[in-house]
Amino acid sequence: MAHRARKRFGQNFLHDPVVIDKIIRSIRPAPGDHLVEIGPGQGAITEQLLATVNKLDAVELDWDLVKLLRTKYAHHPGFHLHSADALKFNFCQLAATGGKLRIVGNLPYNISTPLMFHLLENAQCLQDMHFMLQKEVVERMAAGPGSKTYGRLSVMLQASCKVQMLFPIGPGAFQPAPKVASAFVRLIPYDKPPIAIQKPEIFSQVVAQAFSQRRKTLRNTLRELVSVDTMRNCGIDPSARAEQLSVEDFAHLSNAIS
Ligand code: SAH
Repeated sequence: MAHRARKRFGQNFLHDPVVIDKIIRSIRPAPGDHLVEIGPGQGAITEQLLATVNKLDAVELDWDLVKLLRTKYAHHPGFHLHSADALKFNFCQLAATGGKLRIVGNLPYNISTPLMFHLLENAQCLQDMHFMLQKEVVERMAAGPGSKTYGRLSVMLQASCKVQMLFPIGPGAFQPAPKVASAFVRLIPYDKPPIAIQKPEIFSQVVAQAFSQRRKTLRNTLRELVSVDTMRNCGIDPSARAEQLSVEDFAHLSNAIS
């Protein structure tokens, strides 16, 4: 049964067995793990995961693929397919009490950022996340202070997760081939973040505001949120720019006004 890839669902199916194998080896699934795959598509990764794990939930939006996968893996008792939008899906409801989920997905690139933010809201029940994403996005996620790609996404993710870029993947591994290069990334939510953030909504406001005009000084961009004195008390130079601040600096600043 041939499925024609749909652009609006961000469908780029993996077909290179070497890359699929590399992905599986990075995830290192163990039989007792509870995996959740986002956007299983035609099952390129699903198939390999089901060979090892006993429990795999998957969330797929395209109804044609849901039908195809239900037929294909009907014989597997631990496979549960949810016909749903991952952006609205309640992931924690799948976790057994005390159990944690391992999220996996070759994600639709058009929704990758909102999806990661949605997952972070469920971080308390996640053990780790492995994603295939646009390489440029992965570089931004993993960047540290001082680099050109360091920004709001880097700070917001690194405040609650350890971010590791694993390896790049060329467009040829997919069918159809995307226009951009891809990379595989691992996120591990901290049990206890390096610095506790008192009010996450204030933290996110400070970070967004500081990077809204990244060439301007903090004195300017944060004028309405943080006084120059508070910046100095936190050991931050008001004439510095957002990209020079570490995640910890942002945490101190937002805690000081929370
Ligand atoms: N994992 C497969 C398919 C990747 S393509 C592979 O590697 O070959 C991305 C997949 O995400 C497609 O199956 C697409 O239908 C699905 N998808 C797109 N938007 C989604 C959403 N909002 N929620 C869940 N799945 C989605």
